[in-house]
Amino acid sequence: MNEKIAILQQWIDESSSIVFFSGAGVSLESGVPDFRSMGNDYFQKYDYPPEAILSRTFFQRKPEEFFQFYRDRILRPLLTAEPNTTHNKLATLEAAGKIRRIITQNMDGLHQEAGSLKVLELYGSVMRNPCPDCERRRTVLEILEHPNVPYCDVDMCGAIFTPEIFLFGDGLDKETMTTAMFDMVNADLLIIAGTSLLEYPAAAFVHLYGRKKMVLINEKEHAMDSRADLFLNASVSEVMSQINVGEKITSS
Ligand SMILES: [Zn+2]
Repeated sequence: MNEKIAILQQWIDESSSIVFFSGAGVSLESGVPDFRSMGNDYFQKYDYPPEAILSRTFFQRKPEEFFQFYRDRILRPLLTAEPNTTHNKLATLEAAGKIRRIITQNMDGLHQEAGSLKVLELYGSVMRNPCPDCERRRTVLEILEHPNVPYCDVDMCGAIFTPEIFLFGDGLDKETMTTAMFDMVNADLLIIAGTSLLEYPAAAFVHLYGRKKMVLINEKEHAMDSRADLFLNASVSEVMSQINVGEKITSS
């Protein structure tokens, strides 16, 4: 492992346009659970599986049940979640001019909380809950404290404050996808963390990155891991905690 971390360190030192793909595993290490995982008592509380509830048609037809799930399974776990070593190290790398983009499939805003600015959220963010019909917005806390469906009740608006997240049945945002693809093509180091090369959307992006230096950091092993030039079979934080961000090299 030490040898592999030394290689990763060298590649990071040599790079100035890193794309870091932040998968679910990165958030999991901050205690953000995967909302798709159903515990034993899941069906005592919900009549439908997560994929059904998190769809656009369900949101429109059964907003009460949608918001019960959204509050309890997605927002409430975030109250105690804080950025971890990976989030913080990426913010430091960005400040040192190393990061081209953090492309994340997570919706929890933890990269921004750590201080990263170059974040591309493939599936949106639960931090944003705007009214679709007017300019008003609700914070996570306001949505959490609301007992039921958060209707926009000012000036007789009547629309529902709607999480700015991807729901099943939505198309992914074209501008976001175009930016992500452009970043992939122009990166000089690709680090994929907390997901596998088999899972969408990482799988769809990887082939756009045509260079060497594709790094995979993941606790689980998968059949496609050998496609990476460097595979670190470990927790993402464990790896990132050992990376040093040196002084920015200035030519004189
Ligand atoms: Zn409104």
